[in-house]
Amino acid sequence: MKLADVCRSMEEWAPLAWQESYDNAGLLVGDPTMEVKGVLISLDCTEEVVEEAIQKDCNVIISHHPIVFKGLKSLTGKNYVERTVIKAIQHSVALYASHTNLDHAPKGVSYHLAQKLGLAGKVLLPAENALKQISYYVPVENQESVREALHAAGAGNIGEYSACSFASEGIGRFTPSNEANPVIGQRSIATDVKEVKVDMIFPTHLESTILHALKKAHPYEEVAYFIHSLSNRWNEVGAGFIGELDKAMSGEDFIQWVKKSLDLTAIRHTPILSKKIKKVALCGGAGSFLIAEAKRQGADAFLTGDLKYHEFFDGENSCMLCDIGHYESEVMIKDAIHTYLSNIFSNFAVLKSETLTNPVRYA
Ligand SMILES: [Zn+2]
Repeated sequence: MKLADVCRSMEEWAPLAWQESYDNAGLLVGDPTMEVKGVLISLDCTEEVVEEAIQKDCNVIISHHPIVFKGLKSLTGKNYVERTVIKAIQHSVALYASHTNLDHAPKGVSYHLAQKLGLAGKVLLPAENALKQISYYVPVENQESVREALHAAGAGNIGEYSACSFASEGIGRFTPSNEANPVIGQRSIATDVKEVKVDMIFPTHLESTILHALKKAHPYEEVAYFIHSLSNRWNEVGAGFIGELDKAMSGEDFIQWVKKSLDLTAIRHTPILSKKIKKVALCGGAGSFLIAEAKRQGADAFLTGDLKYHEFFDGENSCMLCDIGHYESEVMIKDAIHTYLSNIFSNFAVLKSETLTNPVRYA
């Protein structure tokens, strides 16, 4: 198995196109054609994690946080980022990060935090511009093979439904030029053909793959199609998670229950509300950008990491804001990546890092 195979598998779950514009997810260090001996999974990539990989004979590290984030202008070892990268290169250890793309992916970071709390629900803020529509025209007799080619390329999935399309019949008309090589009709003669117009939804990041599949499967020299932008949000892809507890509980009980479920030392939270907590929103990592959305959807509590002092005021006695720690809100993604890759690859070891990379301590 090559490094490229591992990267491809990770990107089938969390396509790089889903990362935020400021992010730097993907393969950061390593030759994609390199043979994989073992994969070590960590939340952060540090010198200690690279050392652990070397000791455990793993030549690939998959982390959630990208070690190279802002760009490197020199590699002299003057800080931990440079030293980590240098060590990885010296020992031929590849570094790969799946960050905000994995936050947004179906069953991504926030979903797994919700799972730890036994919370069933849905994505809090579904993604915009992640879906497009294609409409194309095909002779009636070729409609099935073209449809299948587009489905195989990833078009036509809506939630739990696959191979979705809408077809309407009509008459296509065209006049081939003297240079054309028409499959149906003759040069310079207007031709009518019984055609089907097919509409399908597809993930924006697959546009070139879908068009390639359409042109390859379609019998015509010149394929007529339209790509439409959609304002539909993609309900399974996006930021945060919201759901309801099995039974409502008091604010005090909720705090204790979260501490116990996530094995936390401390939670920083806004004052306990007089109302019971039933609807809970959350976001792994730094999720303050979702406070307004959580409140808009009626969340009684919002859990995330990295809340700043002034952001706590935004709870405004309607939503209890809880800072459970950045590391603590995301560390469970290690298990999810481990399970995912172990199910795909059986010919090399997939291990979870045992290094505690959380730089925060509680006194
Ligand atoms: Zn994070």
